[in-house]
Amino acid sequence: MKFYSTNNPSSRVSFKEAVIKSFPADKGLYFPEEVPELDFLFLETLDHYSLPEIGNEVLRQFTSDDIPAEKLQEIVHDALNFEIPVVEVEKDIHTLELFHGPTYAFKDVGARFLARCLGYFNESENNEVTILVATSGDTGGAVASGFYDVPGVNVVILYPSGKVSDLQEKQLTTLGKNIRALEVKGNFDDCQAMVKQAFLDDEINAKLNLSSANSINIARWLPQSIYYFEAYKQLKDKRKLVFSVPSGNYGNITAGMLAKKMGLEIERFVAASNANDIIPRYLKDGKFEVKPTVATLSNAMDVSDPSNHPRMLELHEKAFKDIIDHVSGFSLNDEETLSVMKACYDTNGYILDPHGAIGYASLKGQLKKKETGVFLETAHYSKFMSTVEQALDQKIDMPDFVGDLMAKEKVATLIDNDYEKFKAYLLD
Ligand SMILES: *Cc1c(COP(=O)(O)O)cnc(C)c1O
Repeated sequence: MKFYSTNNPSSRVSFKEAVIKSFPADKGLYFPEEVPELDFLFLETLDHYSLPEIGNEVLRQFTSDDIPAEKLQEIVHDALNFEIPVVEVEKDIHTLELFHGPTYAFKDVGARFLARCLGYFNESENNEVTILVATSGDTGGAVASGFYDVPGVNVVILYPSGKVSDLQEKQLTTLGKNIRALEVKGNFDDCQAMVKQAFLDDEINAKLNLSSANSINIARWLPQSIYYFEAYKQLKDKRKLVFSVPSGNYGNITAGMLAKKMGLEIERFVAASNANDIIPRYLKDGKFEVKPTVATLSNAMDVSDPSNHPRMLELHEKAFKDIIDHVSGFSLNDEETLSVMKACYDTNGYILDPHGAIGYASLKGQLKKKETGVFLETAHYSKFMSTVEQALDQKIDMPDFVGDLMAKEKVATLIDNDYEKFKAYLLD
C-alpha cells in the first residue's frame, strides 16, 4: 500500500517513508491510496478477536509492504497493552473509555504505535534518531511515554515552565532513560518556534538525525480507527451506531470515518467541539472559516484550523453533501461544559472530564430514536481535577495511580527561551 499527499495525489510514498517524513513537502497530509474493505467474516465475528488482534487485522492492510507480519503482531501487542472498555452511562448512551493507557488519554494509542514503527524502521540503521517535541501538555506526555525505552530513539521534550498541570509535568519529567525534558522559560509558542528552527538548522542536521512525532503522522492516525471496531465488538445493541467525538485537530473522528469506510457499520458521527467551533460552522454552510483560537476548559481541543480537514474530505470523495449526510456538529461553551459535568455526575454518578463532557452533551443533544450512542472519553478526569472539582462543587479523591506518579521526582533542565542555548544543549 502506498500513500499520497492530499495536495498532490500523483506523488506516492511507502508507509515507511510516510512515517519517517511525517508530512509531504507540499504540506498536504498522507492518505492511503485505497481504503481497504475488511473481510466480511472478520467483521461479523469481531467478538472472537482481542483488541490487539483487531489492531493487527486493521493495520496490516496498510503496512504489509513495509513491516513483516510477525513484527507487526509484536508491535501491535506492545502498543495496545491496555483495555479500551465501553461503559454504559445511561440508557442508549455509552462511553468508550480511551484513558486506560499510560498517560490517561487516547493519544497513547497513536503515539505508542508510531514509536514502535520508528523503532523498527531504525533497527537497520546505525545512527540514533532524535525526536523533538514541543508540548502544551498532553501530546508530550503521550509521545514521551510511547517512546520510552524504544531502542535507537532519543526524545527531547520542550514544555513551557509553569504552564502545564502538575500531573502533566510529572508525566513529562519522571521517565528518564531515553527521554529528556527541557523546561523552557517561555510559552508553548516559544517551545514550538525553537523546535521548528532546529529542524531547519544545518549544523544540527549534520550531527543529529531529527524526526518529529507530529500528530498528523499516518502512524498516529491509522491506529485510532482500531477502537471503533473494539467499541462495536463490545456493544450489545449495535443498531444505528452514532459516535460522538470530542474534536480539536479532527484526527480522532476522521479515524472513525476510516473505520466506517473499511466496512464497520456506523450510522453517523457527531463532531463535538468547544467554542473553537469551525467544523460545526462548516457543516452548516460549507464555509471553512478560521477564527482566532480561544482558550477553553477543554484545552486539548483549542484548535481553530484543524489539520485533518483534508482527510475528512478524502474520506467523502470531497463531496460536502456526503459529509453532511454522515456528520453533524455540536458545540458547547465552558459554562455549558461545567453544567453538563455536574448533571451527568448527579444523574449517573459518572465523572466526565471536560472533553468527554462535550462529547456526552453533543450526543445527548442529537441522538434520535432507535439510535445507539457512544461518546469517546478522550482523557481521564484526573488530568483536569480543578475543573472537575469546580464543576461538581466538591472535593474529589485523586485515584491511586495519580498518587504514585505525583510521588515521583521531577527531572528537567531549565533553559532560557533562547535558541542558541537550546542548540548548544542539543549538540552537547
Ligand atoms: C487531542 C485531544 C482531543 C482532540 O483530538 P483530535 O484528534 O485532535 O480531534 C480531545 N480530547 C483530548 C483529551 C485530547 O488530548
